[in-house]
Amino acid sequence: MNSRNGSSEIGTIATGNAKRPTPYIGRFAPSPTGPLHFGSLLAAVASFLEARQHGGKWLLRVEDIDPPRAEYGASDKIIAALEHFGFEWDGPVSYQSASRDAHEEAIQALVQSGKAYPCGCSRRDLAGAVRGPLGVIYPGTCRTGCEASETALRVLTDDAQPAFQDRLQGRQVQHLESESGDFIVLRRDGLIAYQLAVVVDDYLQGITDVVRGIDLMDSTPRQIWLQQLLGYVTPGYCHIPVAVNRQGQKLSKSHGAREIPFDRPQGRLVTALAMLGQRPPRDLSTATLPDVWAWACENWNIDTLKGETSIAPTPGTLAEAENGLS
Ligand SMILES: [Zn+2]
Repeated sequence: MNSRNGSSEIGTIATGNAKRPTPYIGRFAPSPTGPLHFGSLLAAVASFLEARQHGGKWLLRVEDIDPPRAEYGASDKIIAALEHFGFEWDGPVSYQSASRDAHEEAIQALVQSGKAYPCGCSRRDLAGAVRGPLGVIYPGTCRTGCEASETALRVLTDDAQPAFQDRLQGRQVQHLESESGDFIVLRRDGLIAYQLAVVVDDYLQGITDVVRGIDLMDSTPRQIWLQQLLGYVTPGYCHIPVAVNRQGQKLSKSHGAREIPFDRPQGRLVTALAMLGQRPPRDLSTATLPDVWAWACENWNIDTLKGETSIAPTPGTLAEAENGLS
C-alpha cells in the first residue's frame, strides 16, 4: 500500500472502475514553501483519486523554482507526509528545478517568435498602473522597446480570450490584455516565472488532467495562452474548492495552517474525504489505512463538489480542532 520508493505499480489500489482507453496522467505539484497542511492534502487526495478512478497515472512534482520562497527541508517533509498517508505516485518524484533547460528553451522560442520581449519596469515604475484581481495590469510600457540593463521577459497578450470548461466550475474565460496585460515569463532576478514553468512541465510530463485548488483557477487562462503560443495541447482542468478557516481565509501557511500531525493518518484521511463531499461511513476512521483508500477508490465521486468554491469546517469538529482550521 504505502510505497516507500515511490515506484509502485499502477492499480495496486482497487479502483472498481473500468479504465478509459485514453491514458490519463494527473499530478500533484506542491511548492516547498512549508510542510504539507490540510489544504494541500485535499488537493493531493482529489487529484490522486481522480487519476486512480480513470485508471491513470499520478505524478508527484515538487515546484522548487523559487528558492527565496522555499523553506529548507520542506520538500522532504511533504514527501514523507504523502508516504505516511499511503499515497502512491508513479515513477520517481520530479523536481521542477531540474527542467531549467527546457524552461529556457521555451522562453527562447517565445522570444524568437516575437511573442516575448524585455521589460525593465520596476515595481515603482508600475506603481501608478491600474490593478485588477490578478494584480497590476501591465500597461505595455516596454512593448516598443526598453533601455534598461536589467530586464524581465514578458509574453505578449492580445485580444484573445483563452477559455476552458472546468470540470467543476463550468466555463471560464479571461480577456488577458485587459485583465492581466503582458505577463512575466522570466523574472528580473533570473528566476523562471511560475506560469511558464508549470506549462512546460505539464507538457513534458504528458499531463492530461490537472486537478488543483480553485485559488489557481485565475492562472489557468494565462497558462492556456502559453500552451497555445508554444503549440502544446491544453489538458483538462478541474479546480476543487479550497479549505477556508472561520474567517473565510484560504487555508495556507500565511494564515496559520499547521503541519499535519503524523498520528492517526486514517482518521485524517476520512476527514479529508468528508470535506471533499464524500460520505465515508462512520466506522471508516477506525479502519486501516489501506481499507480507507480502498473505500475511497471505490466510492470517489468528484461531482459532489460541482460549483463549490470553498469548504468550511463545521465548528467543533475533528477537522477544525485537529487540523488547524480554526
Ligand atoms: Zn516594462
